[in-house]
Amino acid sequence: MPAFNKVLIANRGEIALRILRACSALDIRTVAIHSDVDRELLHVRLADESVCIGPSTAGDSYLNIPAVISAAEVTDTSAIHPGYGFLAEKAEFAEQVERSGFSFIGPSPESIRLMGDKVRAIQTMQELGLPTVPGSGATLGDDIDQSMDVARNIGFPVLIKAAAGGGGRGMSVVRRESQLAEALAYTRSEAESSFGDSRIYLEKYLAHPRHIEIQVLADHHGNAIHLWERDCSLQRRHQKVLEEAPAPGIPDRTRQAIAEQCITVCKRLNYRGAGTFEFLYQDGEFYFIEMNTRIQVEHPVTEMLTGIDLVQAQLHIAQGGKLPWRQEDVVPCGHAMECRINAEDPKRFNPSPGLVDYYHAPGGIGVRVDSHLYSGYTVPPHYDALIAKVICHGQDRAQAQRRMRQALSELVITGIQTNIPLHQRLLQTTAVREGGVDIHYLEQHESRATTTDGN
Ligand code: ADP
Repeated sequence: MPAFNKVLIANRGEIALRILRACSALDIRTVAIHSDVDRELLHVRLADESVCIGPSTAGDSYLNIPAVISAAEVTDTSAIHPGYGFLAEKAEFAEQVERSGFSFIGPSPESIRLMGDKVRAIQTMQELGLPTVPGSGATLGDDIDQSMDVARNIGFPVLIKAAAGGGGRGMSVVRRESQLAEALAYTRSEAESSFGDSRIYLEKYLAHPRHIEIQVLADHHGNAIHLWERDCSLQRRHQKVLEEAPAPGIPDRTRQAIAEQCITVCKRLNYRGAGTFEFLYQDGEFYFIEMNTRIQVEHPVTEMLTGIDLVQAQLHIAQGGKLPWRQEDVVPCGHAMECRINAEDPKRFNPSPGLVDYYHAPGGIGVRVDSHLYSGYTVPPHYDALIAKVICHGQDRAQAQRRMRQALSELVITGIQTNIPLHQRLLQTTAVREGGVDIHYLEQHESRATTTDGN
C-alpha cells in the first residue's frame, strides 16, 4: 500500500482538527470538507485545501456519501478519515470509499457491518468466549408472549435495545411486566425512525455496573495490541461525560485478563485499525455490550497514559504499516482523565449554541485541550454540543484530579453556556474523588443537587 500524500477529513469540530494535526505530524497534506455554516471552523482554515459539500443539514453534507467521495475525487486525495459519528460506522461508506479507489482509514467494511449489528456482535463475542450480559441472544419477533417469556427468564428489570443503536439512543428500561408491551412498541418505532432499522433485542438491566472499555490497535499483518482500559462510568442519558484511565480499584489481573481476551478476538476476526471493546463491569465480572470500530471521543485519555498517538497509529495501519509496538512496549504511566465540555445549560442540559465572545484555554504541565474554539467563533445549532475536551495527566489519580480542577478554573468560554460547572461539581464530590462510581451516579447526584437547590 502506498504512503498517503493527502487525506480528506470527513468530519468537523475538534476531531477534524485532531486528525489534521496527526496528518501534519506525518507530513501528509489535508483536505477539509465542510457544510456551508462551517466555513469558519479552525481546521478548515488550517487545511491545505477545503471543499464546501453542502448545506447545514448533516444529511445533505457530512452524511452525503456521493458528495464526500466527489470531494475526494476533485482534490485527488489518497485516503479518507471518517473521525467519529457521521459516516464513521457506515459499512457502505467504507465500501464505496474503497470501490472509488481511496483508502478508508478504519477497519474493513465487514468488521464495521458485523459490529454495527449489536446482536450479531454479541453472538460473535459469545462464540469467541467473551462474557456477555444475559439477554435474548437474538432479535425479538413480533410475538409479545415470546418476548415476555424471554424477559421473565432473564428477570426484570430488562433493557430493550435497538440492534443498530448508538449514541445512547434507542434504549428503554422496563421495570415491570405490565410495561413490556408498550416499551417494545416504543423502542421498535424509535429504532426505525433513528436508525432506519426496527430490529430490537433485550438484555438484563444491570443494577450498578461501571462502563469499562478496552482500546485495541491491530494491523494488516496479524498483529494486535491493547492499550489497557478506560473507565467511562460518569454518564448522562447513556452518554459519557468524564472518562479516566486506569479504572480505579480493578485488580491488575482482572484488567489484564479481559484485555488479553480482546486481543484474541481481534486476531480471530482479522480485525484491523483502532477499535474499542465496551463492557459493563459489576461485582468483579465483565460483560461485553458492543464494539466501536472507530476512534472514540475519549481516545486522548489513553494517549496521555501510554504516550501513543492513536490517530497517527490509524494512519500508519491504513498505509499498510506494521504496528511498531509489541504488547510489552505499551506501559501505562500515571493517571489521565478527560472532561467533555459541551455547549449546554449546566443544569437543564438544553443546547446553548451561539457566539463565543471570548475563549481562553488552560495550560500547564500535564494539561491538554482538544478544541476547535477561538474567540469570535459561532457554535452552530445543527451539530453535536461537544466544543472542547480537557485532558489532564498526573503521576497518580490525585494529581490528575488536582490538575483538572485547576484547568477547569482557568478555562474561560463566554457568550454561550457550558457544562463546566457540572464537571466542577462532580470533581468536588467524595464519590468521584474516591473513584469507582457506577453508571447511575451522575444522574442520581444531579437529581439530588437539583432537589436541594429547590430548582
Ligand atoms: P450506545 O451504542 O448507544 O452507546 P451501549 O450499548 O454502548 O449503547 O450502551 C450505552 C450505555 O448504556 C452504557 O455505557 C451503559 O451506561 C448503559 N447500558 C447499556 N447496556 C446496559 C445494561 N444491560 N444494563 C445497564 N446499563 C446498560
